[in-house]
Amino acid sequence: MIVQPKVKGFLCVTAHPAGCAANVDEQILRVEKSGAISGGCKSALIIGASTGYGLASRICAAFGCGASTVGVFFERGADAERGRPASAGWYNTAEFTKRAREKNLYVANINGDAFSDEIKAKAIEAIKKSPLGKVDLIVYSLASPRRTDPKTGAVYKSVLKTVGEEFLSKSLDTDRGEVCQAKIPAANEQEVFETVKTMGGDDWELWVNALDEAGAIAEGCVSLAYSYIGPSLTYPIYREGTIGMAKKDLEKAAERIDAALKIHRGKAFVSVNKAIVTQASSAIPVVPLYLSILYAVMKKNGTHEDALDQIYRLFSQQLYNGNCLDFDDDGRVRIDNLELSEDVQNEIMKIWPTVTSQNLTTVTDFDSYKKEFLKLFGFGMDGVDYDADVDICAEI
Ligand code: NAD
Repeated sequence: MIVQPKVKGFLCVTAHPAGCAANVDEQILRVEKSGAISGGCKSALIIGASTGYGLASRICAAFGCGASTVGVFFERGADAERGRPASAGWYNTAEFTKRAREKNLYVANINGDAFSDEIKAKAIEAIKKSPLGKVDLIVYSLASPRRTDPKTGAVYKSVLKTVGEEFLSKSLDTDRGEVCQAKIPAANEQEVFETVKTMGGDDWELWVNALDEAGAIAEGCVSLAYSYIGPSLTYPIYREGTIGMAKKDLEKAAERIDAALKIHRGKAFVSVNKAIVTQASSAIPVVPLYLSILYAVMKKNGTHEDALDQIYRLFSQQLYNGNCLDFDDDGRVRIDNLELSEDVQNEIMKIWPTVTSQNLTTVTDFDSYKKEFLKLFGFGMDGVDYDADVDICAEI
């Protein structure tokens, strides 16, 4: 069938199989061109492996380090009868799997709810079958709106709200391409609690404990989870909002997991990454406008990075290649340093108050934002014939 983008707010409900494959191929090529990473992981578990930062981590582990990978994700296959394409993460995984197997790398894909005991058990089974039988890298890269507690069955929902006062801010209606005013309400205590339960460190710790109990942790195993801090401009909605409370909980979990991994001469930490366009970030109010300005500024000064650039830098300049991790005062690794540099933030603060619907495409890089967004779903890739009939079914 011919697959066209169908964008609904911050979602695109279709994905292009050949476009997603081309997107993954392009990332693999960049890693291969950047060179092999020495002393890297041999066997990685990536939780949230199908899109965004998790996919970039999986590509760096496999094609940079030559590692086996077990990927966990929640994706939808195609429904050929109804003519519904699979989700982008499904197609990304299909291409990743094909390419990694061509290199004789062990690949296992576990599609289902990472918060459940069942999926943890399936992942451990797949790790046991891998050449090493254990993992020496565990990446926790989930972005989920809800979580079912595996012990109690309670369902927690995460919300993107402020904590304390409601927040009024300039924002962007990405469908209309118009600057608007967003009113972000304050969360109540229960909403804060549920967001922390969903996006905090609880589940990361359960994963590491389950792997440890199963004897699936290799000597020197590193576990990392991704976080965001951002500039003061987005503090009310991010760092000091409900999601920020969850990220602080993640940092506390890192300390406990670090202590648990010490027994295996390993370590755990939180890596604070830069803002990029992903399915998760496009859902956060205010962030698309901030990203459009950030892209304009960082592209102009030559410091722009996407998920792959960020993770390749983390792996090659900090984690492996004989390098040391560079921790901040709170024990976090900061690969958001270029985003938060004074010159970038000063420039953003100059542009922010001047943006209007009329000058949106000249003072910001909204065009890049839109292109990056569509690329997440495999649209707008060079060399892909979008008028051609494609098979929407793909094996993972
Ligand atoms: P994303 O939406 O691209 O990826 C989310 C991944 O989680 C996908 O692989 C998805 O399949 C998986 N997933 C979601 N719910 C699941 C479930 N219940 N079970 C199994 N898998 C599930 O998100 P992203 O932006 O790459 O975010 C990943 C992490 O990076 C998050 O912790 C996020 O806070 C962090 N981060 C993101 C940014 C950013 O700007 N996007 C910046 C810094 C840090």
